[in-house]
Amino acid sequence: MIIVFVGAPGSGKGTHARRTAERCGFSHVSTGDLLRDAVDKDTPLGRKAHEFMAAGKLVPDEIMMDLIGGLLDGSDGGEGIIFDGFPRTLAQAEGMDELLEGRGLKVDKALLVDISEDEAVERLALRVSCPKCGAVHNLASNPPKVEGVCDECGGKLEVRPDDREETVRARFKEFRRLTEPVIDYYRSQGTLASVSTSGPVEEVAANVAAALDACGGSPNESSAG
Ligand code: AMP
Repeated sequence: MIIVFVGAPGSGKGTHARRTAERCGFSHVSTGDLLRDAVDKDTPLGRKAHEFMAAGKLVPDEIMMDLIGGLLDGSDGGEGIIFDGFPRTLAQAEGMDELLEGRGLKVDKALLVDISEDEAVERLALRVSCPKCGAVHNLASNPPKVEGVCDECGGKLEVRPDDREETVRARFKEFRRLTEPVIDYYRSQGTLASVSTSGPVEEVAANVAAALDACGGSPNESSAG
């Protein structure tokens, strides 16, 4: 079972992708986390990606396809994979389909996690995340138990450099220009479901589970929340 989570910055796609992976026993592949880790470790991939990320731009497709191709080479699809933040362009979606087809796999479900730009800017101004395990907190709606400390692993919580308002607005522009065609692509394939992420996190989590028919049911256009 392969599920992709598509969502604008601040939509909560990372939080809900991670929770869904845990609930369903699937692996969770966040390209944003992989790239941030590569930047922190100053690897060749990190050096290539850093400038694009800091400017709120997408990392070029060739770099992303190499990353995903390498990941799929090391995996048989197992119980299931949740892709979080990939694909983000039409070329990536088509390239992914080719890579999967060669391995006898396909995207079973695409979930659009929907949010308005102003709400995303507001939400990201309050977001802190853990660079060690990827857990995310909102200082207003979901604060950590101990200030500055990750509930999950005890790591030090940080504000992401690309969560400043002007960078968030730049990331939103990239989302509209480059990622909205991906949504149309999955809609035309009949694999798209969508949820709105306005509302309390538990309510959204229930809507995500319903939209995915628990852990990815029969493909049909549906909308929850
Ligand atoms: P995210 O954590 O998913 O918001 O990703 C953070 C940043 O990593 C994005 O703003 C992009 O610069 C880069 N990135 C993550 N995934 C992709 C992708 N599939 N294609 C291009 N760039 C990506």
